[in-house]
Amino acid sequence: MTEVALLDSVVTFLSKPLGSFIDGAAVVDGQAGAIDIINPATEQVIARVQQASASQVDAAVAAASRAFQGSWAQTSPYLRGVLLNKLADAIEAHGEELAQLEALNSGKAINVARGLEVAQSVIFLRYFAGWTTKINGESITPSLPSMAGEHYTAFTRREPVGVVAGIVPWNFPLLIAVWKLGSALATGCTIVLKPSEFSPLSLLRLVELAKEVGLPNGAINVVTGAGQVGQQLTEHAAVRKVSFTGSVPTGIAVGAAAMKSKLTRVTLELGGKNPAALLADVNIDEIIPGLLMTAFTHQGQICASPERIYVHRSRIDELSEKLGAALASLKIGSPLDESVQFGPLANKAHYDKIVGYFARMGEGNQVVTGGKTVGGKGYFVQPTLLRTTTPDDLFLTEETFGPIVCLMPFDTDEELLELLNDTPYGLGASLWTNDLSKALRMIPRIESGTVWVNMHTFLDPAVPFGGSKSSGIGREFGSAFIEAFTELKSVMIRY
Ligand code: NAD
Repeated sequence: MTEVALLDSVVTFLSKPLGSFIDGAAVVDGQAGAIDIINPATEQVIARVQQASASQVDAAVAAASRAFQGSWAQTSPYLRGVLLNKLADAIEAHGEELAQLEALNSGKAINVARGLEVAQSVIFLRYFAGWTTKINGESITPSLPSMAGEHYTAFTRREPVGVVAGIVPWNFPLLIAVWKLGSALATGCTIVLKPSEFSPLSLLRLVELAKEVGLPNGAINVVTGAGQVGQQLTEHAAVRKVSFTGSVPTGIAVGAAAMKSKLTRVTLELGGKNPAALLADVNIDEIIPGLLMTAFTHQGQICASPERIYVHRSRIDELSEKLGAALASLKIGSPLDESVQFGPLANKAHYDKIVGYFARMGEGNQVVTGGKTVGGKGYFVQPTLLRTTTPDDLFLTEETFGPIVCLMPFDTDEELLELLNDTPYGLGASLWTNDLSKALRMIPRIESGTVWVNMHTFLDPAVPFGGSKSSGIGREFGSAFIEAFTELKSVMIRY
């Protein structure tokens, strides 16, 4: 095993006092106790992060409010774009440092941390930077008749909603934070981010870079801690919008609290039980690398990853054999080893959840490969492939958010559509086929925020992303994010 050498900057960052970042400064006074940050590959404490106290959450929102009315409001759209691009440049320049922090903190294989988390953060931020100068209302000709020769004209303005609370899960702590801060700052909002208590490190480094490149104090703040910090933000009187990414139960609680508090706007990006459907004509050899990547990158801990794969009955044995063999050959090991393809689960709580699922295997399904822990130190489990013939199998219905994929055969297209839609979730789905005509006819009948064809879990900043049904409310990316982070003001003029 050869691990990449940790950069001096990473070692220095981990050894310094860490905590919230409010109004341009780190807050490490320890009012509310500290959280141990664990490396999931070794189970060792790699850093300690001070939790935000209630008064520090108030201070972060107050700083964001001041910046919203002051420095950020006075920063022209052009300069906002320049600053976001500078931040993207800084992420790129510090890419290895951020990737190493991610590998250490969330167990992401270093190549995935570099090529996906960090590289995509740069791409998305530059995309948002491009929008700052293109956010406009429209000019409208009112429809009412003139009574006494008077005229009317009207226009709309897209105005930033104000202070945004951005609540981030543990799986992509840098990238998902960038989606939220990029959307907020591009539209003229300011933001208070709350990373997961398990994986706050890369975001805490990012905000230091934001200060270095000249983002005004208070434009981006971070409050650290567990769920109660997120709840305080959600219910805060000065927060005008909550952008939440996480599980369905927490999302429902956040949505309800935001509504009850004062009809605070919400975007909820939640979990899924995403299906992939392999039609009869599919070339199994060609698609195995794509399926492997989409279902098992970052140990399957990606919201849109497919966990249930419906395969035409004529092809399921071939898929099961070949996918099983490919999974069994994945190299499992340290996220800092560049040859490793499969690291540990991201934290102990999630490891315990997946081990719990392993204990329930075999009640009606067949284990093709995996299904066990790896042993030794770290939260390592085997990538796992199951088969079932029961549509309500546990592994076709509950989101595991881990490296467990279940195969199920189907015979007809009508049966397939029923299986795809038989879930409360609706985040992502994919069809794998060369029959594009059939795919185009099926797409309108699939209840899902995104449908991919011959691909899955590809997120592009230009393409809106979000959940239907219980997988969420609202869309991120594309031009759709603008609606979520702005109010539409109508102006009517009589002359
Ligand atoms: P989670 O819901 O447990 O936590 C998400 C965040 O919410 C964390 O920062 C947590 O501290 C905070 N939180 C917890 N209770 C809260 C409360 N009452 N009020 C406000 N904030 C609170 O989710 P997780 O375990 O961190 O992440 C995994 C889940 O996230 C999976 O279900 C996955 O599908 C989903 N996810 C969705 C997307 C998407 O874009 N749709 C992306 C990534 C992850």
